[in-house]
Amino acid sequence: MIEKIDLHCHTNASDGAFSPKDIALRAIARGLRYLAITDHDCVNGIKEAQESAKDSNLTIIPGIEISTTWRGAQIHIVGLCIDYTSKALLDLIARQRVKREQRAQAIGLKLEKLGFKDALAKTKEQASDGAVITRGNYARFLVSTGLFSSTDEAFNKYLKKGGRAYVNTEWIDVKEACEIILLSGGIPVLAHPKRYTLTNTKLRALIEYFKEAGGIAIEVSSSQQSPDDRRYLADLCTRYDMLASCGSDFHTENRWRDLGLNLAMPDSVKPVWTHKKAQEYFKD
Ligand code: AMP
Ligand code: MN
Ligand code: MN
Ligand code: MN
Repeated sequence: MIEKIDLHCHTNASDGAFSPKDIALRAIARGLRYLAITDHDCVNGIKEAQESAKDSNLTIIPGIEISTTWRGAQIHIVGLCIDYTSKALLDLIARQRVKREQRAQAIGLKLEKLGFKDALAKTKEQASDGAVITRGNYARFLVSTGLFSSTDEAFNKYLKKGGRAYVNTEWIDVKEACEIILLSGGIPVLAHPKRYTLTNTKLRALIEYFKEAGGIAIEVSSSQQSPDDRRYLADLCTRYDMLASCGSDFHTENRWRDLGLNLAMPDSVKPVWTHKKAQEYFKD
C-alpha cells in the first residue's frame, strides 16, 4: 500500500542512491503528494528536488536528519519544514561535515589495513560530488567489491559497532540538534525509535529527554516495521502527548522499503502535519 505522505528519505547528497531529481520523479510516479528530503547532516539535495517537482502534484518538504549521541547510542533527529538557509543550521552542518570527513578517513584507513585499497576514494567515486559520506556509502563500496552479498553483511562484519572497521564518533547532543532545528523554524522528530535497540525503559527515557529538549514528534510509521512496533510507538505518542510522523527512510531500490510504502498512520495519533509550523507546506 502506497501512502501519499513520506517524511523521511535520502538522496545522493548523502547516502541515497538516487539524485534529488530522480527521487522527486520517483515520488511523482508513485503518486505521492508530500515528500520530505532528509539527508544526513546535509541540505544540498532539497533545491534540486523542489525544482524537479515544481510542475507536479508533489510538494517537497525541506528536511534534514541530524546525527546525535545520547548515553553512548547514536540517535537520529529529523528536522522537518526547516529553513535550510538558516545560519544556525548551516553552522551545524559545517561542524558535522568536519567530523564526518575525519571519521570517513579513519574508516578508510582501517579498511586499507584490511586489504581494501583506496577504500575512501572509491567510496567517494560512487557518491555524488561533495556528498556527505556515511557508513551507508562505505557499505555500498564494500558490496561492489563482490566480497559481500549485501550491505547488511558489510555492516555486520565491518561497519557496525564492534566490526573490524568501526570508528566511534561523539556526535552532538540531542538537545543541541533540537535547538538548532527549532531555531531554523523546523519541527524536531525522533527518527525510527525502534532501530536503536534500546530497552523500553531506555526508549522512554530518551523520549522524555527529547521532549524536554523541544522535540515535537516521533516517527511512528516506517516501511519495514511490524504491526506491534507501530502500535507501540503510537501508544508512546499518546502517553507523551507528541505528534506522529511517517517515513520510509528510502535509500535505494529495495523490495521492502520505498517512497510512501506501508506508511499508514494508526487512527489514535495526531499527525505531525497538523502542527502550525507545517501549514506553509501542507495545503490540503
Ligand atoms: P552513519 O551516520 O555514518 O553512522 O551511517 C548510518 C547509515 O548507515 C544509516 O543511515 C543507514 O543508511 C546505514 N545503515 C546502518 N545500519 C545498516 C545496516 N545494517 N545495513 C545497511 N545500512 C545500514
Ligand atoms: Mn542513511
Ligand atoms: Mn537514520
Ligand atoms: Mn534516514
